[in-house]
Amino acid sequence: MKFNEFGFSPELLEGIQAIGYETPTPVQEQVIPLILEGNDIIASAQTGTGKTAAFLLPIIQKILTSKVDEHIKAVVIVPTRELAIQIDQHMEGLSYFTSVSSIAVYGGSGGSSFSSEKQALSEGADVIICTPGRMIAHLNMGYVKVSELEYLILDEADRMLDMGFFEDIMKIISYMPENRQNLLFSATIPLKIRELARKVLKDPEEISISIAKPAENIMQVAFVIYDTQKIPLVKYLLSAKQLRSVLIFCSTKSSTKQLGIELKKSGLAVEAIHSDLDQETRNKVLRAFKNRKLSILVATDILSRGIDIEDIDLIINYDVPNDGEDYIHRIGRTARAESHGMAFTLINEKEQSRFAEIEALLGKPVPKAKLPQAIGDGPAFNPRKSRMRNQRFRKKSFRKH
Ligand code: AMP
Repeated sequence: MKFNEFGFSPELLEGIQAIGYETPTPVQEQVIPLILEGNDIIASAQTGTGKTAAFLLPIIQKILTSKVDEHIKAVVIVPTRELAIQIDQHMEGLSYFTSVSSIAVYGGSGGSSFSSEKQALSEGADVIICTPGRMIAHLNMGYVKVSELEYLILDEADRMLDMGFFEDIMKIISYMPENRQNLLFSATIPLKIRELARKVLKDPEEISISIAKPAENIMQVAFVIYDTQKIPLVKYLLSAKQLRSVLIFCSTKSSTKQLGIELKKSGLAVEAIHSDLDQETRNKVLRAFKNRKLSILVATDILSRGIDIEDIDLIINYDVPNDGEDYIHRIGRTARAESHGMAFTLINEKEQSRFAEIEALLGKPVPKAKLPQAIGDGPAFNPRKSRMRNQRFRKKSFRKH
């Protein structure tokens, strides 16, 4: 299939060509005609499938052919600032030769951007790409022109619910007209997403693009380890080989900061990115990493989804991610676009049962590597024992309260 078979306007086709897309991806082939026809959609599609353009292209096309007025036509709600910026960049590229306008609206970027957001929202930019909290702050002020909105897109919906945004999403929707087209994209469709879909979508078409399995070309290895050995092992792994681009994921802000400090102390060129940093610093660090000026980045899960960084040599999971989906998203940051990548996961005693659940989702065990001699011996991998120990611990701490 070719892009010109969708019936897109010449100026939109020009944008697609300029951005370098030659043929539509499978999700685009399936989703674009349905959106053009006006259907509501619930789609399970992961990052990397081309889902962003799958909703942006038909929305730009529809706005191009609708009446010109100063109202917001489409709102895209996303979980993180980074994703909002990235989608807006896609939007700017694809719509470059058209008259369709857009703006990213996200928190943490200071007063001057609040006033430019205010201007765009009150003058009616065509497409708003926003994080929930910031959008509500604007809506509360009463100047946002959403009364004639036609399209609502919820992207990474499962992530938004995990982050506790359900109420915020419903609040934003309460400002919108009933009669609109709704598109929901989610990596997974658990029950709570079905519930959200029932509340928001009307008679949706359901599309499922590829099950969530990591790419075959990622070499996955796990190290079973005591907590105290984790930092020495990371240092060892980073010094063992000349690596151009390493992304280390931590589950908490505090372990992200701590690891960043420890690695810096040992002379490595490393930065940490987490939600305590202001947006400008986060953008600067991310840009340096993308441009290869910075080779090691320590981050929380804000970077595990949606963010498109090419060609990372190595992913290190400093902590075992919360679930299989997060694991797949994290390691999916490497081996993009047919290249090969490595993903190491460090498993302490408490995390063993969680890792076993992730392996069950993957359908096969991840090979466990012997620790280097310099690090010493680690514990045995015994997830059942770890599960029982965690249960005992939970019971004990429950009794204390
Ligand atoms: P996404 O899943 O939307 O995050 O897209 C993943 C990557 O694929 C991004 O770098 C897009 O620019 C790229 N992409 C999206 N659609 C196409 C296409 N039809 N051809 C080539 N690359 C694409």
